[in-house]
Amino acid sequence: MRAEQIRIWGLLCCLMLLLPSGCRRADPVYNTRFLAFGTLMDLSLVGVEPQKAEEVAQLLEQDFAFMQRAWHAWDPGPLGRVNRLLPTGKFFAAPPSILPLLRKSQQLARQTDDLFNPAIGKLIALWGFHTDAPACRPPPDARAIRNLVRADPKMSDIEVRGIEIRSKNPAVQLDFGAIGKGYGIDLAIDHLRELGIRNAIVNAGGDLRAIGDRSGHPWRIAIRHPNGGVFAILQIAGDESVFTSGDYERNFIYEGKTYHHIIDPRTGWPAEGTRSVTVVHSDATTADAAATALFIAGSEGWYPIARRLGIRYVLLLDSQGRIHMNPAMAKRVQLLEGDLPVLLSPPLLDAP
Ligand code: ADP
Ligand code: MG
Repeated sequence: MRAEQIRIWGLLCCLMLLLPSGCRRADPVYNTRFLAFGTLMDLSLVGVEPQKAEEVAQLLEQDFAFMQRAWHAWDPGPLGRVNRLLPTGKFFAAPPSILPLLRKSQQLARQTDDLFNPAIGKLIALWGFHTDAPACRPPPDARAIRNLVRADPKMSDIEVRGIEIRSKNPAVQLDFGAIGKGYGIDLAIDHLRELGIRNAIVNAGGDLRAIGDRSGHPWRIAIRHPNGGVFAILQIAGDESVFTSGDYERNFIYEGKTYHHIIDPRTGWPAEGTRSVTVVHSDATTADAAATALFIAGSEGWYPIARRLGIRYVLLLDSQGRIHMNPAMAKRVQLLEGDLPVLLSPPLLDAP
């Protein structure tokens, strides 16, 4: 996404969040933004004194700068070091900033039949997505893709022994692009709570977690249409995360065809058939990984994986313009384009 698109979308999100939905006198909302994880982060704090809000925002900005460095997929740093040592096949001490994310990723990879697979860093690099602005160029050599798929790198290839790790497969290269934002937002919410904040949103370019409410009103969240604009609104309150994976986030066009950044580990090519998936879940880490996995699973395969992950709300827009969702999501989402065909799945869990 280009810088001006980020700004416009950030502004749009912000406007939507601030739409009044009642008449009670509202506590002031302190909004601040900074860049992290290559996207614009929006922090909204409700009813906090401006000076305290300023201090809190600075602490969070520092947190995110630390996390971005720790988990960066191609800049040198802790993850770079891990990726240099994994192919040796020998045990080494994993940096403390990596180990919890690695363990969580192993669990989520297992639950998604490895559709969420942060071990495919080599494939993502081969596709040219280990750069800030993916260049328009031909897709990689089909044989090189096939070789990496055959090498079958998986999170389960990584053995964890205390604080030491090793990979049994030299093709494993870690890329936390599909989970880092969610995990970082969960840590940020923990930090906010420690600082006594009860009502807030941490929003990374449309992917967010909210706690509390906005002066007694739910937060209103805009879901972006892959072609631009807003196509749905969700109201959330309490403690919920909303994450969307879409083919529009990072991509390049070559000879009229768009190649996006969500790679199907089974083929090595960008996943086909899905435009975007929005997941609502309590924690942001699961929501982030789930959105990526369900995007790849597509309209035919998303349901059993969502069940296994314990997700209660899913909305998937397929390449034919059809919306797939579970009944509980249908009940709470407000679709702004009424003429799109909707296919309802059986219920997921017993959503309240
Ligand atoms: P975004 O970060 O744009 O919201 P995602 O959460 O879906 O999108 O993450 C996509 C990123 O995750 C890619 O840029 C890449 O770094 C990484 N990735 C791509 N395919 C996979 C996959 N199958 N499993 C895990 N990570 C992936
Ligand atoms: Mg994700």
